[in-house]
Amino acid sequence: MRIARFVHNDTIAYGTVELAEDQGEHPDTLQVLNGDPLVAAVQYTGERLLLDDVRLVAPVIPRSKVVAVGRNYAAHAAEMGNEVPAEPLVFLKPNTSVIGSGEPIVYPTQTREVDHEAELAVVIGRICKDVPVERVGEVIFGYTCANDVSARDLQKSDGQWGRAKGFDTFCPLGPWVVTHLSLDEASDLQVRATVTRGGETIERQSSTTALMVRGIAELVSFVSSFTTLLPGDVILTGTPEGVGPIEPGDVVHVEIEGIGTLSNPVVAAE
Ligand code: MN
Repeated sequence: MRIARFVHNDTIAYGTVELAEDQGEHPDTLQVLNGDPLVAAVQYTGERLLLDDVRLVAPVIPRSKVVAVGRNYAAHAAEMGNEVPAEPLVFLKPNTSVIGSGEPIVYPTQTREVDHEAELAVVIGRICKDVPVERVGEVIFGYTCANDVSARDLQKSDGQWGRAKGFDTFCPLGPWVVTHLSLDEASDLQVRATVTRGGETIERQSSTTALMVRGIAELVSFVSSFTTLLPGDVILTGTPEGVGPIEPGDVVHVEIEGIGTLSNPVVAAE
């Protein structure tokens, strides 16, 4: 299933997305659920909406944290002049940095260098700690696209990454969470980032999740070895090479095969 979160009748609702490709000639639709599937068992309300008629928001708001992993693709570590670390390099992004597809990334006044980073995001489905690698599939709710937006100048000058990667709007997630991919399937997906600027499309990142230094199972197991993961927590699995600057007026797109496309305009802070 593809589980979306959206504004409907002035409240937040959840629903499953059925794309035209599944349904032949029919338009993309949403079947409304009666609650948050990460919180409790849910049922269909019977209401069906057109996807075009609703406004999507972040498909999940992490209950406690977004855990991100740096330098997990060798070619990206190299383009930044870094080595692949001996152990996964972990940092946190606050849940207040999360936005959904279509919502604006606000370019802060404190920076002059903001990059996109296209990443596969893992959504945790169960409270867990010390998960063995071979049992990671049991704790994953699904996958979505992420953009680990990064103020590169502050990342360098601060020496740690809390501010550079923690600004409000710096963690776009979406467009929805896909729950039907196996761990093996998620470990071999094309990842792309493009930027639309002045009517032109700039190709930036194009890689595959098969090129992660540490795979999804190893990362989730590692993260759970030091922190308890809660349902709705999100793990970002690192970005491939080709990161680049974004600026107000751009629209940045993160596309992952089998999941969808996360698109966000970039706007200047007021
Ligand atoms: Mn990243």
